[in-house]
Amino acid sequence: MIILRSIADTRAALDSWRRQGQTIALVPTMGYLHEGHMSLVDEAKKRADRVVVSIYVNPTQFGPNEDLDKYPRDFARDEACCKAHGVDAIFYPDNAVMYCPDHSCWVTEESLSQTMCGAARPGHFRGVTTVVLKLFNITRCDVAVFGRKDAQQALIICRMVRDLNVPVEIVVAPLVREPDGLAMSSRNKYLSDDERRRALSISAGLNQATALFAGGQRQAAALCDLVKTGIANAGGKIDYVVVMDRDSLRPLATVDRPAVLAVAAFFGKTRLIDNVFLD
Ligand code: AMP
Repeated sequence: MIILRSIADTRAALDSWRRQGQTIALVPTMGYLHEGHMSLVDEAKKRADRVVVSIYVNPTQFGPNEDLDKYPRDFARDEACCKAHGVDAIFYPDNAVMYCPDHSCWVTEESLSQTMCGAARPGHFRGVTTVVLKLFNITRCDVAVFGRKDAQQALIICRMVRDLNVPVEIVVAPLVREPDGLAMSSRNKYLSDDERRRALSISAGLNQATALFAGGQRQAAALCDLVKTGIANAGGKIDYVVVMDRDSLRPLATVDRPAVLAVAAFFGKTRLIDNVFLD
């Protein structure tokens, strides 16, 4: 496994694989890897001859009062995880490699990113789409794998690739949970034991809502209320609980087409997101 710190080295290594006729899959991450990330790596291995994991805490997707400085980092541990999963290369750039001091070009998705995390975190998705397109251009990967944990992000990336004719196949892999139901996230590290226990109300609420939906409930408000009550009773601060059309991310009053029930909530200072699909 090679560690690539510059764009020139990355291009040289990946070009040499391409010259041998090998295909390349990219798994973009911000590091502090967990089993959710590694499930994307496993999926990537099935889709291409070589797997590259990028580890980069992208400053442009963080708001001024967010957790950029304290975002968890542990490169040695990430390196060991990647090696154990048969990753071929880690692209591990620093800010000077990724952004010129006078960087002034951005990719902006103008529809799907207006709602949910886009409404709560202005500028977040502009940072995400911009860095992801840069990673695609740096690696010229054939395939890129994203997680359904960030359902809105995955949808926005698919839209970017479609609308800008980016020659990369996007694969969206399932959400991976802890055994007790909590969606795996690097940010779970911030939770105290008590917050973590109370945060289980998110996945528990989504489970209950899924069961209610399976039992025939089609009113979005009833499904959302169930989730909101559980989180509020556990002392969480709700950012949003919504039922959206899964293609357009427009709110649904009645679940009469493929939908996503999505949550963002704070436990203490930690903002957690989670979702389930309603089919
Ligand atoms: P992050 O490092 O949080 O930016 O995430 C990098 C990639 O891993 C994104 O495509 C996420 O959607 C994905 N990911 C993070 N957590 C999970 C999870 N629990 N299950 C599946 N994919 C995940």
